[in-house]
Amino acid sequence: MLRFIKHTGIVVGALSVLVFFCIYIGARYPASRPLTEAEKELAHSIYGDQIRLDSVRIAPDSIYSIDVSKTIGDTIHIRTADYNSDLSYKTLLIHELGHVWQYQNGGWGYIPKSLVVQFVAFSQTGSTSAAYNWEEDFLKGTPWEKLNPEQQAESIAEYFYYREIGGGQELKRQLECFIPFLRNNSCE
Ligand SMILES: [Zn+2]
Repeated sequence: MLRFIKHTGIVVGALSVLVFFCIYIGARYPASRPLTEAEKELAHSIYGDQIRLDSVRIAPDSIYSIDVSKTIGDTIHIRTADYNSDLSYKTLLIHELGHVWQYQNGGWGYIPKSLVVQFVAFSQTGSTSAAYNWEEDFLKGTPWEKLNPEQQAESIAEYFYYREIGGGQELKRQLECFIPFLRNNSCE
């Protein structure tokens, strides 16, 4: 028994080291670049001063984005196959910057939360899409702060999308009052 516990401890310890190593490299990925001036302007138009944009890095098609785009700390591992137009790139970037916002304002907790909700959604529906569905909670009156990290990022990206296409004016206005850093005087 003691031997089993010892071996289990070694395996768990080794896996933890591996996970931390992967996160460490993912957050400081060598083949990454800073945001361009245009990307900074785009990010600022949504997040204002809520994100330290000089710290943000983009790693296009890195090993971390082999399945899907993801953000580790300040580094966005963006998968070029995830977008096919300028607008879809920008919308994806705004979603991923949502995770940078979560990291810079709340630390690493968004990663396990995001993984858990995606795992639960996948095990219940065969797809991770349900983890991103923010509308139901929004209609129920759940505060934005209580949404899971994917719902938060997706609601910001959708607001951005409607802003760009000039549609969904009523929803866009409601989202302005829903998302804390978009609130303005008309939300009182
Ligand atoms: Zn996400």
